[in-house]
Amino acid sequence: KLSDRLTAVASYIDHVTTVADIGSDHAYLPSYLCLNHPSMRAIAGEVSDGPLQAAKTQVEELELGNRIDVRKGSGLAVIAPGEVEGITIAGMGGALITSILEDGKSKLKGVSRLVLQPNNAARAIRMWLLENNWSLIKEDILIENEKFYEILVAEPGHDSERYDQEREKKLLFGPHLMQKSNEAFLEKWHGEMQNWQRVLSALKQGKEQESMERRKQQIEKKIQLVQEVIGDGN
Ligand code: SAM
Repeated sequence: KLSDRLTAVASYIDHVTTVADIGSDHAYLPSYLCLNHPSMRAIAGEVSDGPLQAAKTQVEELELGNRIDVRKGSGLAVIAPGEVEGITIAGMGGALITSILEDGKSKLKGVSRLVLQPNNAARAIRMWLLENNWSLIKEDILIENEKFYEILVAEPGHDSERYDQEREKKLLFGPHLMQKSNEAFLEKWHGEMQNWQRVLSALKQGKEQESMERRKQQIEKKIQLVQEVIGDGN
């Protein structure tokens, strides 16, 4: 059974007929898509040998070799321009996803949908999409195994107006997610806020201790100076 996370990613790309899954690991996502959609063809891209082998084995076992091409390479290097309609990049950090998109810009011509699932730093991806004329059309957030996963769905288009107001908030929280604010969203940001509050209070306590320590040393030094000059009073 495919994870809830990857099932959700798949649901945002199941209308296309050609998809590249970058960093595919076991090729679970393209396999699921191809099993459920008979007209779908896919490319599974992997940069590392272990996951590449796992992807090949999975595709062979499911006898999907005629529809899923497992290719070795970094990021979008595994696809030719115009080769796919959709691209999925899931289960990596937001910074890595952003750099894969940036390095592979020339391969994005003709791509009509991106589905990105960063494990963190979704803000960096929203920023990249905005600056590179990709419109963020949908977002999702879910909890699995006590972790939060955000899914960003984009299509070619201009998004600057979307960010005209409350730009900072929208970049951080997600313009669609903050509007819906479902349970997972509230739980994630409640948890983040509690973390920050803990850090902040530790910082404050740290500062107090530090200044107390300095104050103590100053007083001790003064006492010592006075004693040196006038003796200890006995
Ligand atoms: N996409 C799958 C998922 O969401 O479950 C696998 C996620 S796994 C944590 C990340 C995979 O991305 C690893 O198999 C890793 O080898 C691959 N990877 C990392 N950097 C990559 C890159 N620049 N190009 C292609 N694959 C990459």
